[in-house]
Amino acid sequence: MSHHMKVARQLQGQGYRLTPQRLAILEVIKGAGCHMSIQDILDKLADSYPTLSVPTVYRNLQWLKAAGLVAETDLGGECHEYEYIAEHPHHHLVCLECGERLTLPDSLLDPVREYLRDTLGYLPRAEHFAFFGICPACQAREDHDHPHEEHHADAP
Ligand SMILES: [Zn+2]
Ligand SMILES: [Zn+2]
Repeated sequence: MSHHMKVARQLQGQGYRLTPQRLAILEVIKGAGCHMSIQDILDKLADSYPTLSVPTVYRNLQWLKAAGLVAETDLGGECHEYEYIAEHPHHHLVCLECGERLTLPDSLLDPVREYLRDTLGYLPRAEHFAFFGICPACQAREDHDHPHEEHHADAP
């Protein structure tokens, strides 16, 4: 049995109704090991599912998302990206200037989950976050490019 089939069995055992289409999409995302756009997914499945359309992939992705198998993230690019997260919980830090991405440990959000659960009484679903900022290199570059700007701003 292939690894993917094993995963599918496991998921079905947990009550997930994985249709062949959902499984195919999940396999593509999982196999990629990185973030994928809907178009990336469509391209990969074009041979086996020539009639697959963007809305269909989108609907299936929403289902996979609700099942906690796939994360949808706006990482500041042109489109939302999808990624398999069931076995690798993590978060991202993206530089708004150069687009550099760091992966952050999932434990980072433990205090947030604790607050949502203990103080607000919510069942937290903080699975996949993107934080944005300016990386140290870009901060240094900006300081260097505009050495007098702050000085001018202070002038009367
Ligand atoms: Zn991710
Ligand atoms: Zn940067």
